[in-house]
Amino acid sequence: MDSQAISLVRSSFKSIVAEEGGPEQLARTFYSLLFARSPETREFFPAAMDVQRDRLFTAIGYVVDSLDESDEMLEYLAQLGRDHRKYGVTDEHYNDVANSMIEAFEMFGGAEMWTDEVDSAWRNTLSVISAAMTGAANAADGPRAWTATVVESRAVIKGVAIVRLQLDQPMDYRPGQYVSVQVAARPRMWRYLSPANPVDGSGIVEFHIRQVSGGWVSPPMVNQTAVGDTWVIGSPIGALGLPDNIRDLLMIASGTGLAPFRAQILELIRRGNTRRVHLFYSGQYPCDLYDLPFLWTLAEKHSWLTVIPVSEEGSNPWWHTNPEPLPPLGFPERITGKVGKVVTSYGTWPGHDIQLVGNESMVNSTKFRLRAAGIDVATVRSDPTYGVQ
Ligand SMILES: Cc1cc2nc3c(=O)[nH]c(=O)nc-3n(C[C@H](O)[C@H](O)[C@H](O)COP(=O)(O)OP(=O)(O)OC[C@H]3O[C@@H](n4cnc5c(N)ncnc54)[C@H](O)[C@@H]3O)c2cc1C
Repeated sequence: MDSQAISLVRSSFKSIVAEEGGPEQLARTFYSLLFARSPETREFFPAAMDVQRDRLFTAIGYVVDSLDESDEMLEYLAQLGRDHRKYGVTDEHYNDVANSMIEAFEMFGGAEMWTDEVDSAWRNTLSVISAAMTGAANAADGPRAWTATVVESRAVIKGVAIVRLQLDQPMDYRPGQYVSVQVAARPRMWRYLSPANPVDGSGIVEFHIRQVSGGWVSPPMVNQTAVGDTWVIGSPIGALGLPDNIRDLLMIASGTGLAPFRAQILELIRRGNTRRVHLFYSGQYPCDLYDLPFLWTLAEKHSWLTVIPVSEEGSNPWWHTNPEPLPPLGFPERITGKVGKVVTSYGTWPGHDIQLVGNESMVNSTKFRLRAAGIDVATVRSDPTYGVQ
């Protein structure tokens, strides 16, 4: 896409997002046009559309931001296209989506904003998006979705569970990627989760799930999952993972954001790694670092791995009465503070590949700290953040 078209798409999108209630109204208009044009597409979405509307804007915003990084964007769209096969979408549905989107923008923007140039820039963008998604979906040879049976579900601290499932067919994901998951208690409400283990031929996938208060799906995932339940899982997505180069790695995780790093560390062990890996594992309370004992056993066996525990609060909340585990002799003790501040107190990490995973506010505040310390945050890799998928 040429740079003028990209700038028209960005400026028109920004002006819509900036309007009070703009995104919500536009999303409502879009979905009513889509469901009128193609009634069967209503079946792809949950009964309550509020979260879906937010997700639509996050996804468009992500693509609009990445329009000039074409390789990364095309790869992301290809992954999204493969994932969308779980709905049974056809090429015709992609046309219906593009036409409804254009119509919604035009109705919403009015003649002043929706000029012929803006119209053609958006049509061009949407056809690039559809072509990338349908091309990858049609070329994919794996299943449209995987069925997985729960073989273990255990609470590790209040509001956090580790769930292990047996996949019905092998899935080839890269450690660090995420997948969309649907549970029987919340039909059609897909949520992203990151496998915490790499592919090892066993067909077992492990998820670490935090209950978001007031959330639709994470509470039943954490509190109602039982052995024998079946979950449906979509194709892997995401650009996090082990880089092809041999640089040392800096991983910064908060809470269940540990999962994609845990998968990468286990994969490094499988590959006989020797490069240095520093993992800053953070949470609000000391007890949020539920997987520390396991990580310490890995670090005891593999001297290239250093785990630095960090918590914002110095002690546990009243409801957590188990004693705090002690690090093995010579290992870094837990540090109290904001993880970004702690990471930068170690230096600016020259020559490191940096990845960052956590909720939206943790990712933003950590990036702010890294930037202030002189680290180029454009090189820091992170997924679309947890809170705003
Ligand atoms: C790439 C990616 C990977 C993810 N991997 C994992 C994982 O491995 N483990 C895991 O537990 N979760 C993970 N998530 C988050 C997960 O997909 C859900 O967003 C989360 O479980 C909340 O779903 P919900 O249906 O309960 O809440 P929703 O009903 O979707 O949301 C309810 C409200 O809570 C807010 N909210 C949603 N998530 C958060 C959050 N994390 N922190 C604060 N507020 C939030 C929403 O903005 C909304 O206002 C991942 C998200 C993304 C984007």
